[in-house]
Amino acid sequence: MGQEDKFAFVEAFLEGRSRQQTRRSLQGVVPLDAVHVQKQGKTLVNFSANDYLGLSKHPVLIAAAQDYTQRYGTGATASRLVTGSFDIHQQLEAALAADCGREAALLFNSGFQANVTVLGALLDRHALVLCDRLVHSSLLNGALASRATLTRYRHNDHEHLESLLRQAVNQRYSRVVIVSETVFSMDGDRADVDRLVHLAQTYGAILYLDEAHAIGVLGAGGMGLAMGNPGVDLAMGTLGKAFGAFGAFLVCSARLRDYLINACPGFIYTTALPPSVIGAIAAALKLMPSLEGDRQRLTRHAETLRNQLRAAGFDTGPSSTHIIPIMLGEAERALSLAQWLETQGILAAAIRPPTVPQGTARLRLALSSQHTRQHLGSLIGALRNGHGQRH
Ligand code: PMP
Repeated sequence: MGQEDKFAFVEAFLEGRSRQQTRRSLQGVVPLDAVHVQKQGKTLVNFSANDYLGLSKHPVLIAAAQDYTQRYGTGATASRLVTGSFDIHQQLEAALAADCGREAALLFNSGFQANVTVLGALLDRHALVLCDRLVHSSLLNGALASRATLTRYRHNDHEHLESLLRQAVNQRYSRVVIVSETVFSMDGDRADVDRLVHLAQTYGAILYLDEAHAIGVLGAGGMGLAMGNPGVDLAMGTLGKAFGAFGAFLVCSARLRDYLINACPGFIYTTALPPSVIGAIAAALKLMPSLEGDRQRLTRHAETLRNQLRAAGFDTGPSSTHIIPIMLGEAERALSLAQWLETQGILAAAIRPPTVPQGTARLRLALSSQHTRQHLGSLIGALRNGHGQRH
């Protein structure tokens, strides 16, 4: 094979993506405030960010990030098990555990990393992992990399899940792990946490739930739908979405935390989160109880938008949260509507396969408590016009 052929697979892959209208490229934006960005010189209202409470621009978080940087420096300088476990990391973990009403919490450098590495530590090739069909790529990657037997149950179909659990009873698996999100990232619907806990307990399975899109937004004090439930063995929350910062954490028993500190390569062999990030997360956590009004506004916004979208003839799928898809089917339709919205001053990303299943391309609208009624009104108006003109 000649030198020039070495990357033929790259060309073939990219051409395939272009043909299917699913080739992506990075689109540079400059964030202006909690809901506006500038793109190619044009100011757009952003309906695609996961900054659900607008905390990424909150002065208290910014001040805390600056303060921790002044006191501790810009980097953690080592992994947690070497000399990167500062008092601020430990205090934050204690506060996260306490606020979730759990025995222990452990920080990770991202939600993606937490999912991959924690599932890796829970599973081995003799285990069975049962994932909801729509779980995030990071959960799927963790399950696949572990070489456990992976079965995906139909989305939110607990009868299907139970039948798989029943079948597993007579097999010789080392253990069974159930994996779901509590709020699904692309559909904005919820899992029934109580049902999952019941099934896990009935069949002696380990329950792992991803609260990436629930933490900060839903549940008591905004601390998620599963974090505080002792029947959920492990719950993961991201800190780069509603918390406005970066990173992730896991709540679990003290014994499991101890196990993960010893058995999770993605925890052990990576530099600890930097002080600025720890400061921002700690400040967000302190603010959380006081943000009930913001969470209620977000819920009201979502209800208003869903009702108006449905009235205008859009399919918003099963959404019951601040994440609202507009189901469009083919990638090309999603792209053209996103492009139209951009001409109207609105940023709403088209989500296409492989991020979502074939034939379910969509616009994914993610609301913020910082959006105003006027923002929602402009969005609906632009969508109605775009719909009428183009579809
Ligand atoms: N889980 C889910 C459900 C997600 O949507 C995401 C982010 N898109 C992640 C995990 C990854 O989190 P992070 O961005 O912190 O890596």
